Amino acid sequence: MDYMLSIDQGTTSSRAVVFDHGGRVVAMAQREFTQHFPQPGWVEHDAKEIWQTQLAVLREVLVHAGITASQVRALGITNQRETTVLWDRQTGEPVAPAIVWQDRRTSGFCDALRAAGHAPGIAAKTGLVLDSYFSGTKLAWLLDHIPGARLRGERGELAFGTVDSWLLWQLTGGRVHATEPSNASRTLLFNLKTGTWDDDMLALLNIPHAVLPQILPSCGQVGMTDAQWLGASVPIAGWAGDQQAALFGQACFAPGMAKNTYGTGCFMLMNTGDQPVASQNQLLSTVAWQGPSTAQKPLAYALEGSVFMAGATVQWLRDGLQIIDSAAQVEALAASVPDTGDVFLVPAFVGLGAPDWDGQARGALVGMTRGTGRAHIARAALEAIALQTADVFLAMSADSGLALTELRVDGGASKNDLLMQIQANVLGVPVVRSRISETTALGAAYLAGLATGYWSGADELSAQWQEERRFLPQWQESQIRAHTQRWREAVARSRSWAQN
Ligand code: ADP
Repeated sequence: MDYMLSIDQGTTSSRAVVFDHGGRVVAMAQREFTQHFPQPGWVEHDAKEIWQTQLAVLREVLVHAGITASQVRALGITNQRETTVLWDRQTGEPVAPAIVWQDRRTSGFCDALRAAGHAPGIAAKTGLVLDSYFSGTKLAWLLDHIPGARLRGERGELAFGTVDSWLLWQLTGGRVHATEPSNASRTLLFNLKTGTWDDDMLALLNIPHAVLPQILPSCGQVGMTDAQWLGASVPIAGWAGDQQAALFGQACFAPGMAKNTYGTGCFMLMNTGDQPVASQNQLLSTVAWQGPSTAQKPLAYALEGSVFMAGATVQWLRDGLQIIDSAAQVEALAASVPDTGDVFLVPAFVGLGAPDWDGQARGALVGMTRGTGRAHIARAALEAIALQTADVFLAMSADSGLALTELRVDGGASKNDLLMQIQANVLGVPVVRSRISETTALGAAYLAGLATGYWSGADELSAQWQEERRFLPQWQESQIRAHTQRWREAVARSRSWAQN
C-alpha cells in the first residue's frame, strides 16, 4: 500500500496530512508557530520556525499513520501565499524575518506607485490590485532595508521565495530554488499572460533577476526530499498556493466551477479556464495551476474575491461583544430569531476587500430598534458573511459572463448549517458542502498524485468528490433583490468612515 503526503503550511500553523487512494485522510499532524507583531501594521514569521514546525509534523504524521517514507508515493505542498522570505544561498539562513501577507508596511510605497499612475498597467500585466498584500513590494522593502542586501542580491548571493520556494529549498537540502505559477502570480512580478517573470515589473520595483526562483509546473516532479529528513527520499510532485489548492481539492476542474472557503476571511475562486479574465469589478485575476496535462503544461486561470472578515466576525461576537462563548454557539443564538428585524452588520473592521476595496470603511451596525437583541446581532453577523460572499459571487458572474449554478464550500465556518442555508437563500443557487474538509491539503496531494500516476486523471478525482450536504435556496428572486439592496445601503453607510 502506498500513500500521498501533503504539506499545508498555513498562516498560524504548519500541518501535514496523509491521504489514501480514495482521497481519505489517514492521519494528520499540526503545530502552531509564533506570530510576531514588531510594530503596528507589521506581521512577521521566523522562516526557520516555519521549516522546523513543518518538518516536525511531517515526521509526526508518518508515525500517526503507521507508515514509513518509503510508502509515500509523492509529496504535495500547499502554503500561505504572498509571505516573503529572503535567504542566503550559501548558508541557507534567512537574512531577515519573513514578511507576512497581512503586513501593511509597504502601503506607502503602493500609494506612491498609484499616485504615479502605475495601477492600471500593473493590473493589466499581473491581474492584481496594487496593494501591500502581494510579495513584490515586500521583497523591495527587504532589499532596501537589510544592510548589504541589494548588492548581495545583484551578485546572486541571496534567494527570494514565497513559502513554497522556501520549503522546497529546505526539503531538497538546498538543491532546488523554484516556485510554481499560482504562487508566482501573487508576487506582482509575474506576467499572467506569458507565464514568466516580467522585466518591466522587475524594473519598476527594482528587483534584481538574480534573486528570483525558477518557475516550474504546479503538477510535475520538481525535486526529491533529502533522505536525512524523513528516512528516505520522497518525490515532490505537486504544489500550489492554499486557495488554488482548495479549488483543485474541490475538483473545480472545469471553467465556471467555483469554491468558497469560510475561514478567518472568505476566499472565493472560480476556474476561468485557459484565459485570464480582466476583472471589471475589482476581483483579482490569478493563476489557478499549471498542468495537469502530459503533453503540454497549460496554465489554468482563476478569478478571486477575498472577504477580510468572515469567521473573524464570529470571533468578534465571542471576544469583543462576548455574546457567545464559542464560535459554534452563534448558530443556535441566530436561529432563536426568525430574521434580523432589518438589522444589518457591515463587518468592515479592517476596511472592505472585494469588490469594494475600501481601506477607510469601518464596521457599522444599522437598523437597530428597542426590540433588537443579541440574537438579532448574531443573525446579522451570519447574514453579513453570506452577503459579502454574494457580492463577490455577483462580481464573478459579471466578470466571467458565466452563470454560476452552484457553490462548493469548505473551511471552519462552513460547518454552520444556518450560515450555509442563509448563503443559499441570498445567492439563489445551491450551496454544496463536500464530505472532506481538508480540501487544501487534498488539492496538493491531488496535484502530486496526478504527476506520479497515483491517480489516473481529473475524471477519477471528480468521481472521488462527494457531497456531504446540499443547501437549496428558499427565497424568491424578489426577496433576494430587496435584501441585497438593503445590504448595499448598509455597506454605503460604512464607506470612507476612517477618512478623517
Ligand atoms: P483559518 O484557516 O482562517 O484559521 P478555519 O477554516 O479554521 O479558519 O475556520 C475558523 C474560523 O471559522 C474562525 O474565524 C471561527 O470564528 C469560525 N467558525 C468556526 N466555527 C464556526 C461556526 N460554527 N459558525 C460560524 N463560524 C465559525
